Amino acid sequence: MQITIHRATQIGGQITSISTNRVSIIIDLGHNLPNHTENEDAYDNDSAIAGITEGCSAILYTHYHGDHIGLFHHVPDSIPQYIGEVAKQVVCRKYKQLCFLREPSLQQKYRRALTVASGMHMFHEKQTLRFGDISVTPYFVSHSAYDAYMFLIEAEGKRILHTGDFRGHGYLSKGLLPTVQKYIGQVDVLIIEGTMLARKDETILTERALSQKAAELMKEHKYVFVHCSSTDMERLASFKNATRSMFPKRPLLADEYQKDILALFSETAGKKSACFDFGKVYTYSGKNPKLKEWMLKEGFTMFVRASASFNNLLDLILPTLPLEEKPLFIYSMWEGYINRDDTRNEDYINLQNRFTEVTQLHTSGHATTDTLRRICELANPRLAILPIHRDRGTDFSSIGISSRLQEKIITTSCKLCNDMYIEFL
Ligand SMILES: [Zn+2]
Ligand SMILES: [Zn+2]
Repeated sequence: MQITIHRATQIGGQITSISTNRVSIIIDLGHNLPNHTENEDAYDNDSAIAGITEGCSAILYTHYHGDHIGLFHHVPDSIPQYIGEVAKQVVCRKYKQLCFLREPSLQQKYRRALTVASGMHMFHEKQTLRFGDISVTPYFVSHSAYDAYMFLIEAEGKRILHTGDFRGHGYLSKGLLPTVQKYIGQVDVLIIEGTMLARKDETILTERALSQKAAELMKEHKYVFVHCSSTDMERLASFKNATRSMFPKRPLLADEYQKDILALFSETAGKKSACFDFGKVYTYSGKNPKLKEWMLKEGFTMFVRASASFNNLLDLILPTLPLEEKPLFIYSMWEGYINRDDTRNEDYINLQNRFTEVTQLHTSGHATTDTLRRICELANPRLAILPIHRDRGTDFSSIGISSRLQEKIITTSCKLCNDMYIEFL
């Protein structure tokens, strides 16, 4: 069995290929994260992807973040692609939105992507898929994308656990350790993310604690604008729950795109837990005087995005709000998009700069080093631990695992292309 991990020592741009003598599959086909020093993605074209996917029987996606799925539209039609059921709908809605972009070349690209996404196959938790002599079983994980999975891959008598992106401190994390213990157990190879290795100083709140802090802020501020990912269901729920539990009279607002995503979450996860039922969500256009009056009187929580339409909307809303109420902007994403030179997003900064009261309230979508340690101990890999999705120069052995497990860590990758290639006999 051969495992090739492309771009092993970087966060984002994830691609893992697993092959037997007969069959080959790929886990994730991610685009590089936007980075000011390395803007181009050498794989972002049909011919590069045709090369990587040649002879491949299937591509399976752990979740819908661009750094795991972003190159899917280059895949030749002959190769089936698989994703979670709700994740597929989120991807389709996102690309439908992108089709509204004005530039004709981008429109064409996104239309193609929407067609390919609509044709994706779906997998379901704990239901094993078979591709020749490789079988793949998805297990649900909590992450800043809903409907995310780790995969147990079994072939030629070997068991590989590929964790994708995951965490242990979300609302939906309760099943993480019991699942690994009960359904997965010991594996031969553990392919595991290590995003937090370089972010050990970050404060990690549980999603529930974050929601409580949001409620505290809402006590101080009547008008609250929240900038978080429009597809991070657990985070959206934290702000929704903070609003509804403390201020049930305050309306929840979003734009049409966010409303559709929230409705999708309500219809799926929301049927299993009220935590994810977003109920009635309103859209502000300035044309509904009753809504405007209600918002002014009771206050509100509004999800915002760094888009031109939201900036126009803020032009309408902000001048109508009494300044003594100190309208608050909560930034609820990774701080690197604001304060790190190589990953800064100017649109995010410009959006924040429209407000005088700005605060940051965030917790990571990724596993803490302690959670990484526990997964390593439970999966107790016989042959190898392959850390992926981590910054170059980070030391996976620093997570506190035994020296016996530390000896299993393999990080040697090609100095030129950053690919890691390992063959197990
Ligand atoms: Zn990722
Ligand atoms: Zn992710």
